[in-house]
Amino acid sequence: MADAKKIAAALLKRYPDARTALEFSNPLELLVAVILSAQCTDVRVNMVTKSLFAKYKRAADYADADLATFEQEIKSTGFYRNKAKAVIAAARKLVQDFGGNVPATLDELTTLPGVGRKTANVVLGNAFGRHAIAVDTHVLRVSNRLGLVHEDDPDKVEVALVAQVPKDKLTTFGSAMILHGRETCIARKPRCPECVLLKLCEYPDKTPV
Ligand code: SF4
Repeated sequence: MADAKKIAAALLKRYPDARTALEFSNPLELLVAVILSAQCTDVRVNMVTKSLFAKYKRAADYADADLATFEQEIKSTGFYRNKAKAVIAAARKLVQDFGGNVPATLDELTTLPGVGRKTANVVLGNAFGRHAIAVDTHVLRVSNRLGLVHEDDPDKVEVALVAQVPKDKLTTFGSAMILHGRETCIARKPRCPECVLLKLCEYPDKTPV
């Protein structure tokens, strides 16, 4: 079994300040940004949210948004029809059930339309400072390669990582895993010779040094 504590220590030495690259100044902004980030780069989302956040400040603003106008405002993030519906529906639920505030628990966040565990955990970890890890495609792949998990179900991977990684490092670890997956342990051909986790990694098909 891979040594999660050693892996976390080595990874956090490499990425000590890892955090989401999405720009936000409150939980609502992060929630909207995460919904927009599906199948889109964080850079693109940040370009779009700059003007979006200047216009829409409260959940009620999104709840009252004109769908066609909102679609155009977020169009460049892709899948804009679904995303527009999701943001507006989530905002309406926030207004209806949570007084317009973003709730700070996983159970409550996942009652919002279009908000699954991954989105909820990004918000909990980055906007509320909770010990939470969001399992995206990078975390899923890198965790399996390292031997931290042998599992394809993101929810089960989340549970396994929560059990292994020191709690106070969990959110930073998740963000560091994403960076590591983007920069080094890339999907098609991992850059094992330059990997800080090389000696701790159980992946049988490492790129030869
Ligand atoms: S050694 Fe290779 S496969 Fe293992 S984590 Fe590093 S880059 Fe990924």
